[in-house]
Amino acid sequence: MRIVKVDEAFTVKRTVEAGKEKEQQIVDGIIKQVREQGDEALFSLTRELDGVDLNQFKVEQSEIKAAYNDLEPNVVEAIREAIERIRDFHQRQVSQSWLTTKPDGVILGQKVTPLDRVGVYVPGGKAAYPSSVIMNVVPAQVAGVGEVAMVSPALSTGQLPAGVLVTANELGIKEIYKIGGAQAVAALAYGTETIAPVDKITGPGNIYVALAKRAVYGVVDIDMIAGPSDITVLADETAIPAHVAADLLSQAEHDELATAVLVTDSKSLAEAVSEQVEYQLQSLPKEDIARASIENQGVIYLTENLEQSIRTVNQIAPEHLEIIVQNPMDQLGKIRHAGAIFLGPYTTEPVGDYFAGPNHVLPTEGTARFSSPLTVDDFVKKSSVLSYSKEALIAQANSITALARLEGLEAHARAVEIRLGDDSDE
Ligand code: NAD
Repeated sequence: MRIVKVDEAFTVKRTVEAGKEKEQQIVDGIIKQVREQGDEALFSLTRELDGVDLNQFKVEQSEIKAAYNDLEPNVVEAIREAIERIRDFHQRQVSQSWLTTKPDGVILGQKVTPLDRVGVYVPGGKAAYPSSVIMNVVPAQVAGVGEVAMVSPALSTGQLPAGVLVTANELGIKEIYKIGGAQAVAALAYGTETIAPVDKITGPGNIYVALAKRAVYGVVDIDMIAGPSDITVLADETAIPAHVAADLLSQAEHDELATAVLVTDSKSLAEAVSEQVEYQLQSLPKEDIARASIENQGVIYLTENLEQSIRTVNQIAPEHLEIIVQNPMDQLGKIRHAGAIFLGPYTTEPVGDYFAGPNHVLPTEGTARFSSPLTVDDFVKKSSVLSYSKEALIAQANSITALARLEGLEAHARAVEIRLGDDSDE
């Protein structure tokens, strides 16, 4: 891996996303087709883009039953245990409605209401992602969302991966559609004869999915535009090079565009990790993808001290941050930008991908500077609540009408003043 020396003047360069005009045109065309032709467009686009000729895209109970036969019992057990742990974590995120009464009798508050209907995109294509089913559906259910519809592209067999179907069934999802890509996003946003439109679409996907989500934002809400995954490991001389290398490769195998970074003040660790990455790469089933990721984006930042390492990490604003230094908890308060923070030598990133509890849908590409992981809050909306007595309105009328007239809005001022007189006048 490339080793880059970091000094006081160093700043991490943020790569600006290249233009995606060609893909955007394709996505716009797909959205138009789905809006105009509904189900018919879904059938023909699935034939054209996924190479599958379906006669219906809603998953039937018999397909779910068959999926259970394809999974070992210990896998089904692991899915159930993961759901339980992830649900337990998300239950702690629930926002409560509240009301407060001010000394003048005015009641103010915030009412939390779950969304009515949400669409969850589960990527297919190159791999199966049962973990994405859990991570998107659990916070929606904990929030109290009324209906969850799931979409995922069919395999060449015309089925969805068994792990995806079993996970959805374990979560009680009744509406599952075998469609993917921009056409699935368009169907969720605008609805078709078979699919009722949703209020929000969540879930990761490739460039076509991401651009389609961006295009339908405003018609529906979306969670985020997730880019390729990234990991940064902040380590000192106490870290075991083979462990650090394994963690870097666990992200690199996702995607040629994934980014794996080590930030360390130990030259010997930097050199040993670089060697270990090459050694471990040679036996990885996904060596080609991981090697491309390491060669294109992989980097080891060699700093002068821990303070400089932390400054570098905050500039990167990683999606996943592992801290493998002496007393990692002592460094937690200094981290300002990271999607998920994994503390200590045994908290390897896959524990968070699948099982521990926190969500694995995280801000990528430096967006941890301003955004957060997927949470229960993404599946609710908040209404403000206000209640005034006549006395309270009289007490505040002068200030309110002054501000209304400052904006030239006379009708606003009069709506207050008309209420100030004797009620019997009206
Ligand atoms: P996908 O489901 O996102 O995309 C597959 C669909 O793309 C196909 O159904 C097809 O309709 C469409 N498509 C493919 N080529 C097309 C073309 N030329 N024109 C128009 N549409 C086309 O599956 P994927 O491609 O495997 O991508 C999944 C992505 O999701 C990966 O980048 C992966 O890293 C990411 N992911 C992220 C997370 C996370 O939590 N951040 C989790 C799982 C997966």
